[in-house]
Amino acid sequence: AWGRVKRRLRAELGEDVFASWFARLELEEVSGGVARLTVPTRFLKSWIESHYLDRVLTTFRAEAESVGRIEVGVRGPSAPSRPVANAGKPSPTSGPLTRLHATATPAALQGPGPMVETEIAVPRGESAAVDLNGAPLDARLTFASFVVGRSNALAHAAAERIARNDGEGALYNPLYVHAGVGLGKTHLLHAAGHAARESGRRVIYLTADRFMYGFVNALKTQSALAFKEKLRAIDLLILDDVQFIQGKSIQTEFGHTLNALIDSGRQVVVASDRPPTELETLDERVRSRLAGGLVVEIGTLDEGLRTSILSARLAAVRQSHPNFEVSPAVSAYVARAITANGRDLEGAVNRLLAHATLTGAPVTVETAESAIRDLVKNREPKRVKIEDIQKLVASRYNVSRSDILSERRTAAVVKPRQIAMYLSKVLTLRSLPEIGRRFGGRDHTTVLHAVRKIEKQIGEDAVLGDEVELLKRMLQD
Ligand code: ADP
Ligand code: MG
Repeated sequence: AWGRVKRRLRAELGEDVFASWFARLELEEVSGGVARLTVPTRFLKSWIESHYLDRVLTTFRAEAESVGRIEVGVRGPSAPSRPVANAGKPSPTSGPLTRLHATATPAALQGPGPMVETEIAVPRGESAAVDLNGAPLDARLTFASFVVGRSNALAHAAAERIARNDGEGALYNPLYVHAGVGLGKTHLLHAAGHAARESGRRVIYLTADRFMYGFVNALKTQSALAFKEKLRAIDLLILDDVQFIQGKSIQTEFGHTLNALIDSGRQVVVASDRPPTELETLDERVRSRLAGGLVVEIGTLDEGLRTSILSARLAAVRQSHPNFEVSPAVSAYVARAITANGRDLEGAVNRLLAHATLTGAPVTVETAESAIRDLVKNREPKRVKIEDIQKLVASRYNVSRSDILSERRTAAVVKPRQIAMYLSKVLTLRSLPEIGRRFGGRDHTTVLHAVRKIEKQIGEDAVLGDEVELLKRMLQD
């Protein structure tokens, strides 16, 4: 039933809202009419409580009538006494297990060391989490620790110029950096923030969550004006994960803030997991304003870059664990095996360290292999091809693949076509325009329409929901 509740929430609220706030919502238990849910951060907890509690309850009751109340708690390996760094990094893409690797390693390892130093302990109350000064910068994420290679050289150069620009007005404004997860966007943004602050400039770093949270809260406490003024009285605004900005009033406000800053020559730097053209939930004007400066992509890390990042990370860890030795063969193995991103490389180092510390034995390629096995496997989801989706859906609905690609608009063809488009969006990394092209040259708005429609129908029609779920599994196995 919980699976269905989540599916309903996803369908009712849309993919973006769901991914921002509910993807990591879990059910702990239902007892005495109370459903206890948990999320990994206090930030998420308070956001859900203040915005979506009624919605969650209604949805829950639709599946389980006996539930009369919802409680949201914070889960975590050491929830009550956990370092609160996460309150300062409420990015949906960098959950507690990514930045807070230390919590996933044995307690014995958690002495003062680089892993722990990455935590920025900022004691905050629930409401103080929305201070107008933005989020703190992570001391470890600097230009000095950022390894430059072919795939990130342009983004790095642009960020560095902006950060070191000594008040000559804006250079590339805004600077828009986009890349997949773990490729160094946040690192680069923090680095720019540090460098700009060192040269005496006023910098605010915010994640999209925090921007929204700050704004909504400011509205509640009638301090919206103060919030806006604060935002505009700075030299550099850094906004991470802009793809999560949503909500009409927030977008409008975001648009005004952007315009005010850029028009008065103040610098704006943003990061996103996709190019501006694909920020589907954002208003067209805001999108084009974001695209109006310099847009740079950080590409995947090649093996050379992975090797450099890995050795930098190993060197950092060795400062606090001098006995931790990793042979060149092991490094080479890890750099070859972990292809996905920098975050997994960091995870791999922590695994090796845990292994070495616990067993006291040197790390061999063989032990490394078993220590990082899940990182190697889990992080490489099977690539689903659009063509395979079209074939499977066609055969399931007794039409041909060419029917799906054709102009025909009979119901017998339209429905499978829309389902195939929906699956293409959720199972592949293809953009809407690209999916449109692969479906007989259709416009991206047609694809978007199909995706929304199927999402909605899945929410309303449990049979269809199961059907689509089944298709998904068949494609992914
Ligand atoms: P993103 O924000 O793009 O998801 P992050 O900036 O959080 O990625 O990077 C994930 C991890 O990989 C961080 O620990 C970061 O320091 C590391 N990393 C990524 N790229 C680099 C790089 N070029 N040099 C050094 N570390 C990197
Ligand atoms: Mg990030």
